[in-house]
Amino acid sequence: MNENMESAKQSIRDVLDFPKKGIVFKDITTLLKEHKHLATVADHIYDYYKDKGITKVVGLESRGFILGGLFAYKLDAGFVPIRKPGKLPYGVFSEKYTLEYGFDEIQIHKDALNNEDIVLLHDDLLATGGTAAASIDLINNFNVQETYVNFLIELDFLNGRDRLPQNHEIYSLFHF
Ligand code: AMP
Repeated sequence: MNENMESAKQSIRDVLDFPKKGIVFKDITTLLKEHKHLATVADHIYDYYKDKGITKVVGLESRGFILGGLFAYKLDAGFVPIRKPGKLPYGVFSEKYTLEYGFDEIQIHKDALNNEDIVLLHDDLLATGGTAAASIDLINNFNVQETYVNFLIELDFLNGRDRLPQNHEIYSLFHF
């Protein structure tokens, strides 16, 4: 990893016991607030995906919206949000997925993608993979050409990658 990427990685702050005891929360606000780190990750993503013909970046609520929008602009692509129930105003596809306790649900607008799209799915962090797996299921409603999957951070020890379908390329910038 080059010096700028290493420095961007170092800028991510660990917050202990947030949002509950035992969790080490990876706080990316300390990366986002510095223009040089923001530019480093945006340029890196541009170089990585520039030749893949991405037409839509799909970002996950809510931290996936921040870099997702930036990556869409850099890649000359559109941006599509995946949101929690009750937030999207038009007709939606929904997916439920299991959490440690109970379940959660995410939604995408029914006309957000089409079968000509090449999608880059982005979230800030891959933990157990439940959120990303449900997002891929949502995207599968549209028969898109290809779906690439990107995370700023991957928590390797949780093996979230193994929960995702193996037919999509997964790329994470920083591993912990
Ligand atoms: P998962 O579905 O378990 O892969 O969880 C991924 C989602 O939860 C992402 O949208 C993350 O923003 C959030 N998340 C899970 N664990 C952490 C963590 N340790 N630090 C920051 N965010 C996390």
